[in-house]
Amino acid sequence: MAKTSKRTFYVTTPIYYVNDVPHIGHAYTTIIADALARFQKLAGKDVFFLTGTDEHGQKIEKAAADKGLTPKALADSVVGRAQDLWKALNISHDFFIRTTMDFHEKGVQKLFQMLLDKGDIYKGEYKGWYCVSDENFLADDVPLQAEGCKTCPDCLRKASVVSEETYFFRLSAYQDRLLAHYAGHPEFVRPQSRMNEVASFVRGGLKDLSITRTTVKWGVPVPGDPKHTIYVWFDALHNYVTGIGYDWNMERYEKFWPADIHLVGKDILRFHAVYWPAFLMAAGLPLPGAVYGHGWWLKDDTKMSKSKGNVLDPHVLLRSFGPDPLRYFLLREIPIGQDGNFSHEGFLHRVNSDLANDFGNLVQRTLTMIGNYFGGEIADPEEETVEDARVRTDFDGLKRRVFDLYDSCAINRALEEIWAYIGLVNKYLADNQPWIMAKDPARRRRLARVLLQAAAAIRGASYLVFPVMPGSAERIWGFLGEPKKPADVPYDDLGFEGFGPGRKVGLPQALFPRVALKDFIGEDGAAPLAPPDFRREQTKEGVIPMDLVSYEEFRKMDLRVAHILEAERVPGATKILKLKIDIGAEQRQMVAGIAETYAPEDLVGRKLIVIVNLKPAVIRGIESQAMLLAAITADNKALIPFFDRDIPAGAVVK
Ligand SMILES: [Zn+2]
Repeated sequence: MAKTSKRTFYVTTPIYYVNDVPHIGHAYTTIIADALARFQKLAGKDVFFLTGTDEHGQKIEKAAADKGLTPKALADSVVGRAQDLWKALNISHDFFIRTTMDFHEKGVQKLFQMLLDKGDIYKGEYKGWYCVSDENFLADDVPLQAEGCKTCPDCLRKASVVSEETYFFRLSAYQDRLLAHYAGHPEFVRPQSRMNEVASFVRGGLKDLSITRTTVKWGVPVPGDPKHTIYVWFDALHNYVTGIGYDWNMERYEKFWPADIHLVGKDILRFHAVYWPAFLMAAGLPLPGAVYGHGWWLKDDTKMSKSKGNVLDPHVLLRSFGPDPLRYFLLREIPIGQDGNFSHEGFLHRVNSDLANDFGNLVQRTLTMIGNYFGGEIADPEEETVEDARVRTDFDGLKRRVFDLYDSCAINRALEEIWAYIGLVNKYLADNQPWIMAKDPARRRRLARVLLQAAAAIRGASYLVFPVMPGSAERIWGFLGEPKKPADVPYDDLGFEGFGPGRKVGLPQALFPRVALKDFIGEDGAAPLAPPDFRREQTKEGVIPMDLVSYEEFRKMDLRVAHILEAERVPGATKILKLKIDIGAEQRQMVAGIAETYAPEDLVGRKLIVIVNLKPAVIRGIESQAMLLAAITADNKALIPFFDRDIPAGAVVK
């Protein structure tokens, strides 16, 4: 089934700056890499997955000095932040490289010397904008101010032009070879749209690159000229070869290099798609298969940044949900190349709807029925009907499509396909109503067939989500009495038939508990629209005082049956939902304080009573054109009285 004959798969994340507190952006890159690594292992490849930290440079030198530490001691004290997060996210990397590791520094020096000897590195003079206060050259892309000067982005002081001796990498010599490589390997930069950006940057002309500093002490010393240290990218990028053994475990290096995919944020794509292949060409090393630039996660439609104070701490989500819901959300919500928007509402919707409702309930119901009706054993089934067979044959098609989608990094589409299948299995159960069959002893074997199809489908679907939600997939396989773990079953061996009569299944524990938004992010002050709480007005005798209303007054109220067509959360509000309703003659929108009791997906399709001739009210900027009737529970939640049989929308209530 594998597309390529290559037997190995090597995937990397960027090395993260050790002094940064890891946030959702770092988590995203690493989760993508983890899902790809886990999938390629299932596909039978020998996989190596590398991540790590960048520990050199001026910033860490300064941060360490501020704390009275050596730079290495500072790195040692903070590197655990990334390592702990990867553990909490169930990341399965094979090695965690730190650029302060001895073999990395030696490997970088060896490559530097090699390029120096062949003339691709030469000594010259670097002229650039320099901040005296920070003792630092400004990056080339810091813009010129109106007066023709540059301002230091760190301290906002005026910078001045300074020259210093430096070693250059002869990047200009590689312009044509880079363009030829892009032309011959259109998959080298992904997504495709970014290839055009990169190629046009290179066509615009490449200048030689200053790759050493005398002003930065904390770095890999230039061999034979230790007043220079090797600067940022030449040091950092080579982690991808030193991390698998270049110059210290050549057998492993030869086995895995070149990398199949370097995953990077789109902001550092250029360094990976221009400098890195040029360094490799100069060293005579093969080029990686692809550099994949992923998008950014925005928070409530704004770019996350420390200064805005809207950086999302993944640990908060992980404490409440564990790793799989976050992994699922980040990979399901957007294709890898696009920007995504993180909102708590969107996250909880996926958790409650896709995970708890669609998948979790399917597992729960199926296993509970097998427990109740057959003592927890898969029983001897009757022959498959056409409909039963479809659950099986659809799985075979799904399995092939999901393979190709994972293999081409379209993880969100693989998940869409799997959830479409889960929807089909849910519909199969709803159509067959095994809970009704269970009342008829003559239909035992038919019941056994339906539950067998559902359980086998769950087993298959769990396997297919394993790269994204490994912990949940393993748990479900445990519930199903599966002696193996998903990771131990090669993709090609996965079959619907691998599950049959005689198998003992256990009772499931909750997989994906539903979480209400307010329990998660707290109150936001939105007032419930339900009627006032009568309990508080009870007298000591327990009598509810009331104002009497005449029949004529009551008759003015126009109460109707409304059919809920759409329901959605209101961004920033935890208590209210926005509904679109059909009241027979027309459709209206309304806002109701019921979000603490009902999820939007629980409401669509249901019918309830609304008052249609109240004056419209504007709530949170939304016009509410009706009011529903609801009872208020002891803990102040709104419970809607629904009908016990069907009735058309618009029917009069009196
Ligand atoms: Zn400065």
